[in-house]
Amino acid sequence: MTHRTNLCALRESAFLAQGHPCFYCLHPMWRADAKAFAAAHGISRDRARMFRLTAEHLTAKMDGGRTIASNIVAACRYCHHGRHAQFPGAASDPEAYSFFVLLSVAAGVWRAKGPTVEHPCRPPRGRAAKNSLLSQREYH
Ligand SMILES: [Zn+2]
Repeated sequence: MTHRTNLCALRESAFLAQGHPCFYCLHPMWRADAKAFAAAHGISRDRARMFRLTAEHLTAKMDGGRTIASNIVAACRYCHHGRHAQFPGAASDPEAYSFFVLLSVAAGVWRAKGPTVEHPCRPPRGRAAKNSLLSQREYH
C-alpha cells in the first residue's frame, strides 16, 4: 500500500468516525460533490471549496508525525490550510489550534476570507498557481 493510498484510507476512516464534521471547526465537509454540498448549504461553489475533506496529521509530518490512524483526523481544507499556513506557531499544538478555531467560529470571523491556495491533488492553474504559497507542500 502506498503512502498516498494509506492516507486516503485513513482520511476516509476519520471522516466516518467523526460523523463528517471537521475536527477543528465542526462544520460538515464534502468529499466528492462540491456542487451538491453548495446547494445543500446555500453557498457558492467557490465557498464550498473551503469545506473539502482533507486528512490532517495531528503531529505534523515535519515534526515526525506518522501516517497512522491515531495521528490522522478529518479536517476541512480551510482549517487544514490555516493550521499550517496562517498560524505556524499553533501548528505544533492541535488542541491550541482547535481552541483558536472554535473561538474564531463563535466570533464569526472564521472563513471571513477565502482560501488562497488550491488543493494539490488538483494542481492550481493560472493566477492561483502563481500565488500558491503551498505548492511545494503535501496536503491530502
Ligand atoms: Zn474546519
